[in-house]
Amino acid sequence: MQTAIDPTTGKNVKSYKLISNKKLNKTIFGAQAAFQEWSRTDLEERARLLREAARILGEEQDALAMLITREMGKLLKDAKAEVEKCAWVCLYYAQNAERFLRDEYIATEASKSYISYRPLGVILAVMPWNFPFWQVFRFAAPNLMAGNTILLKHAPNVPGCALAIADIMEKAGFPKGVFSSLIIDEKRVKKIIKNRVVRGVTLTGSVGAGRAVAGMAGKALKKTVLELGGSDPYLILDDADVIKAAQVCTKGRLLNNGQSCIGAKRFIVMRQVYNQFLEAFKAQMEEAVMGDPLEAETALGPLARQDLRDQLHAQVKKSVKGGAKRLIGGKKPKGKGFFYPPTILTDVKKGTPAYHEELFGPVASVIQARDEEEAILIANDTSYGLGSAVFTQNIERGEQIAREHLQAGACFVNEMVKSDPRLPFGGIKNSGYGRELSHYGLREFTNPKTVYIE
Ligand code: NAP
Repeated sequence: MQTAIDPTTGKNVKSYKLISNKKLNKTIFGAQAAFQEWSRTDLEERARLLREAARILGEEQDALAMLITREMGKLLKDAKAEVEKCAWVCLYYAQNAERFLRDEYIATEASKSYISYRPLGVILAVMPWNFPFWQVFRFAAPNLMAGNTILLKHAPNVPGCALAIADIMEKAGFPKGVFSSLIIDEKRVKKIIKNRVVRGVTLTGSVGAGRAVAGMAGKALKKTVLELGGSDPYLILDDADVIKAAQVCTKGRLLNNGQSCIGAKRFIVMRQVYNQFLEAFKAQMEEAVMGDPLEAETALGPLARQDLRDQLHAQVKKSVKGGAKRLIGGKKPKGKGFFYPPTILTDVKKGTPAYHEELFGPVASVIQARDEEEAILIANDTSYGLGSAVFTQNIERGEQIAREHLQAGACFVNEMVKSDPRLPFGGIKNSGYGRELSHYGLREFTNPKTVYIE
C-alpha cells in the first residue's frame, strides 16, 4: 500500500494498492510493444499529442495544483505555477524537437555521412516528490518526442500525482503503453532494470538513491542519467547590492518550503558586507509567514514528511553542537503538520552537517569569507556541484567567477538558480551526470547513429 499523507495536517489523504508482479510484467512488455509503433509515428503526431497534454494541464490546473499541495505541502500558488511550467515544457518540445532531432551531416570521404538520433526504447524514470509534476514532465516531454516509451516509478508519498500524470497522457491520446505509472515500492526497481526490454534509467533524487540505482543499471549495462542533490553556494561579494542579494537569497532558500535541489543553501559572504547582508537576510527570512499552503499570504508551508523534518532538525542540532550559532529559528514547532521555521545558522564550521551536507528545508548556512579567493574556495569545498550564484555589481567580475571558478552545472549572476526548458540542467560531482532540458536533454536517451554511404 502507498499512502499519501497531508503534511499540513498529518492526516491520510488516500491509500493506493501496489500493483501485482503480473501486472508489472504486463506493463513492461506493453511499453516495449508500444515502442515498436510509437518510434515510427511521425514527429508531427507526437507534437500534436504533447500540445494536447499541455492543453489538459491548463484546463485542470487548479485541481492538479490542489492534489500536489495535499500530497506534499507545496504552496498552492507554487503548485499552480508548477503545472503551468509543465505545459510550457510540453509546448517547447512540441515546437523544437524536430529541429533538435534533425540529421546532422558531416563531410567525410563518403558520398553522404551523418548522425541520426534514434530512440533507445523503454526508459525507466525514478522520480522524487519535491516537484512531483515538473520532474516527470521535464523528462517525459523530450523523451516522448524522441520516440521512447516511459515507465514511471514515482516517490511513494505522491501516488495520486503519479496516477494523475498517467491520466493526462491517456486523455491527451498517447497510445496505451507509451507512458505508464507503476505504483510499486523500490524493491522492484531492480527487477525492472534487469528486464531486457528496458534500455535506460533516469533518476532524480538523493545521492544514495542515485548510487543504488546507477549500480544496478551498471551491472545490467543500461545507460543512466542522474539528477541528484545539491548544496548550492551563493556568493555575496564586497560590491554586491546587498539588499537585492538578501531578497533573492531569501526566495532561493524558501523556494518549495526549502526543498529544492537547486535551492540556495550556503551563503558565503565577504567580510566587508557580512553584517549588512546578515541584517537584511535576517529581516527577510523573519518576515516569511509560515502556515497553511492554501492561504495566499503564506510564504513557507510544511516539509513533505515527518521523517524529513526529523532529519533536518538533527542536522541543525549537530551543526550547533559543532559550533554554529542559531541566529533565527532552529526549533521544531509544536502542533499538527510537519512545519519547520525559517532558520539561519551563522559561524558554520567545517566538519558539521550545515557545511557539508544538503539541508533539505528552510535552513540557511552562512559563512564569512576573508576575500574573493576564499569565497570561491569555500563554495567549491563540497561534494556537490549542481547550481551556484554570485552577487556583485561588477558584471564582468561576476561572469568570470561564474564561467571559470565555480564548480557546478549552472552558475547565475545576480539571480537565483532556476530551470528553464531552453537551458540544459544537471550537475557535476555528486550532483550527478547527464543533462535534462534543451537539446542535450532530448538526446540523452537517443542513439546518435552514424550513417555512412560510400
Ligand atoms: P530519494 O529518497 O532519493 O527518492 C527519489 C526516488 O528514488 C524515489 O522514487 C525513491 O523511491 C527512489 N529510490 C530511493 N532509493 C532507491 C533504491 N535504493 N532503489 C530504487 N529506488 C530508490 O529522494 P527524495 O527525498 O524523493 O528527493 C529529495 C532529493 O532529490 C534531494 O536530495 C534533492 O536534492 C534531490 N533532487 C534532485 C533534483 C535534480 O534535478 N538534481 C531535483 C529534485 C530533487 P522510494 O522512496 O520508494 O525508495
